[in-house]
Amino acid sequence: MTLDLSTFAAENGVKYFMISYTDLCGGQRAKLVPAQAIADMQRDGAGFAGFATWLDLTPAHPDLFAVPDAGSVIQLPWKRDVAWVAADCMMEDAPVQQAPRVLLKRLVGEARQQGLRVKTGVEPEFFLVTPDGSQISDQRDSGEKPCYDQQAVMRRYDVIAEICDCMLELGWKPYQNDHEDANGQFEMNWEYDDALNTADKHSFFKFMVKSIAEKHGLRATFMPKPFKGLTGNGCHCHISVWDVEGRTNAFADKRMPFGLSENGKTFLGGIMKHASALAAVTNPTVNSYKRINAPRTVSGATWAPNSVTWTGNNRTHMVRVPGPGRFELRLPDGAVNPYLLQAIIIAAGLSGLRTNADPGRHYDIDMYKDGHTVTDAPKLPLNLLDALRAYESDEELQVALGTEFSSAYLKLKHSEWNAYCSQFTEWEHQTTLDI
Ligand code: ADP
Ligand code: MG
Ligand code: MG
Ligand code: MG
Ligand code: MG
Repeated sequence: MTLDLSTFAAENGVKYFMISYTDLCGGQRAKLVPAQAIADMQRDGAGFAGFATWLDLTPAHPDLFAVPDAGSVIQLPWKRDVAWVAADCMMEDAPVQQAPRVLLKRLVGEARQQGLRVKTGVEPEFFLVTPDGSQISDQRDSGEKPCYDQQAVMRRYDVIAEICDCMLELGWKPYQNDHEDANGQFEMNWEYDDALNTADKHSFFKFMVKSIAEKHGLRATFMPKPFKGLTGNGCHCHISVWDVEGRTNAFADKRMPFGLSENGKTFLGGIMKHASALAAVTNPTVNSYKRINAPRTVSGATWAPNSVTWTGNNRTHMVRVPGPGRFELRLPDGAVNPYLLQAIIIAAGLSGLRTNADPGRHYDIDMYKDGHTVTDAPKLPLNLLDALRAYESDEELQVALGTEFSSAYLKLKHSEWNAYCSQFTEWEHQTTLDI
């Protein structure tokens, strides 16, 4: 039975609903609707001019309606007057096919039709920076290897504990928080869930971290590589596939190498096969490519992949199998759209299952040191344009994600790349002036 948001408001003292959707560039768009008006909005959706957000719509398109998915509602633990609810974009009573949450729901449905339930956990790293974004917020956090720094994480206890308390209250089962590998960088982990729930939580997590950081006079950024020379913000995704009841992990087989079943291997085969195209979505910004393929950072390692390779419990590859029954995709970064991340993983994985894709040999070497010895694995795209072109030449993936999405996304991202290329940089002035 669908939850009635009006009743939810009355029972929980909610005064406003934030009806929220995520556009193609990952922007979270919302209307703040008083509880008195939520009954109609729950039925019809909140109206938006679609062109005003990144969905590849024109000013002449009819109104876009964001229809709340009531089951996703979350009362903000740090501002109890407000409840956030994820919404699905509709136009003239039809779903907007390129809208990320609509797209993910369709792919979750396709997996379900095949008797599969994809469960994932994400690790969205972030930096706490000064309000103007120019530097990290803690000037004493300057160690060369700051990962797990006890003193530095305690200097940000008020922010980190407040976020973790929220997750505890929401029942997300958070289990650890730490200072990460870059100065000013943190990671907070909670338990994996069905792909759509993980995407909703991931969206909400970004909103929550930014909001609570602001409350404390700081700014949180998920930017892939905010500071040259420091490790970037990854957003690793751990993946397993279960039966529809969610009882049996179809990826687990203790008799197989790394405990990954035949199904797990072919799903992984799909990820490997489509990896370069995948990057167009998992690494969606110009800045993303300063994180992957990057030179060594101050700490000694980028912790980001550079080639399409997989392995066992070894963090220098694109895919790591940390233990039986799941694998970790280390490619995505902090700029990834939470819904598109899950959607493209499912699309690539289902393609792998359908075509019985072979993930190829696993390399159990230190890729940062000995990567040059691998000659039969493609390098990951070197920039956003490379990735967009890889996506353009991957017809199977384009079809799986739908022509509406693929053409809208490519159009938006190509114009982003063109805008970047039209920048006049100091570097070219310096290197070309005397030519
Ligand atoms: P690491 O930093 O070693 O990659 P983390 O503990 O930071 O690992 O994150 C692991 C993520 O993987 C968490 O979200 C966790 O819930 C999730 N996870 C654990 N088991 C599974 C599984 N079977 N399927 C999907 N995700 C899983
Ligand atoms: Mg108006
Ligand atoms: Mg982690
Ligand atoms: Mg990490
Ligand atoms: Mg990880």
